[in-house]
Amino acid sequence: MGALVPRVGVLDIAPYVPGRAVGLEDAPGTVLLSSNESPFGPSRAAVAAARKAAATINRYPDPSASGLREALAARHGIAADRIVCGAGSDELLGYLARAYAGPGDEVIYSRHGFVMYPIAARSAGSTPISVPEKSLCTDPNAMLAALTPRTRIVFIANPNNPTGSWLTKDAIARLHRALPPSVLLVIDAAYAEYATDPMYESGLELVTRHENVVMTRTFSKIYALAGLRVGWAYGAPALVDVLNRVRGPFNVSNVGIAAALAALADTAHETRAREHNSRWLPRLSRAIAALGLELLPSIGNFVLIRFGAAPKDAGSAHRFLAARKVLVRPLGSYGLPDCLRVTVGKPAEIKAFVAALTDFMRAP
Ligand SMILES: *Cc1c(COP(=O)(O)O)cnc(C)c1O
Repeated sequence: MGALVPRVGVLDIAPYVPGRAVGLEDAPGTVLLSSNESPFGPSRAAVAAARKAAATINRYPDPSASGLREALAARHGIAADRIVCGAGSDELLGYLARAYAGPGDEVIYSRHGFVMYPIAARSAGSTPISVPEKSLCTDPNAMLAALTPRTRIVFIANPNNPTGSWLTKDAIARLHRALPPSVLLVIDAAYAEYATDPMYESGLELVTRHENVVMTRTFSKIYALAGLRVGWAYGAPALVDVLNRVRGPFNVSNVGIAAALAALADTAHETRAREHNSRWLPRLSRAIAALGLELLPSIGNFVLIRFGAAPKDAGSAHRFLAARKVLVRPLGSYGLPDCLRVTVGKPAEIKAFVAALTDFMRAP
């Protein structure tokens, strides 16, 4: 008899490497710029709603999260019955892979795309196909060139994490037009609330008009509710029906639903976070560029910095910054060992980061 083994592909999954440096992050005075969390934290109304909902945790949550779906629908001018909520968008990405791809199928993602795509593809038993990028940006032509009769899903993060790079509304629409109707385009818009460029479109329009596109969003980033695990997907009725079949009936907690609803209603808090980002992302970027470092234009709440050769390499920079209690994200697990990702923090945090990075670059 053979030993107990999981299905093909599962042991090929490289486990997710979190941005957090466990232990270090709690040290007093640590500047945490490694996990793309909002510097302002969650809305106080959201925290109060979560506290209040704690009184009901003996009850199962609303299995269809209808209140939250209706609030999202009203906010975005879309139909509530085309929305499915999930325990973070990660859960929904996993469901999409499992529902639409399986053994023998191929799932396309960008070489430095969000790390969950190959994980989701492999756990579904399908084969992740990594396609090359153009200057660290998703390359729609390379994606189209990778299509085969086995392709079932194309995953795109827009903007992408960890690179911050993004595709315009037109580029995504062109990519979609060239896909066969049997291939699902997943647009992961985890940072959509930060994107203010008029050429950016989160996917709402494309999903409204087409059956083979789905957009995922999250309450983890601008709403700063990562610990509660709330995300959502917007898709065509048939796709929503599929997700509702594969998901667990109580996949979003009542505390999560309550907090997300309050966060969505607190538009002042959201606007403040977005405006802070619009103001400080360019400043942070200019300060990094002024040190002679290469960086990628970003529309998220983070930037990717590319380092050179030793002694000014990314690993040395990471260690130097950590010794100054400034934590940024190393990207070896993304195949970008020469890069670091830094989150747009509070002004004082940005200042501490720039000061430490300046000292690193000037040190002999
Ligand atoms: C953070 C992130 C997610 C996951 O968010 P959750 O809703 O917390 O699961 C998905 N995609 C991208 C690109 C992200 O950066």
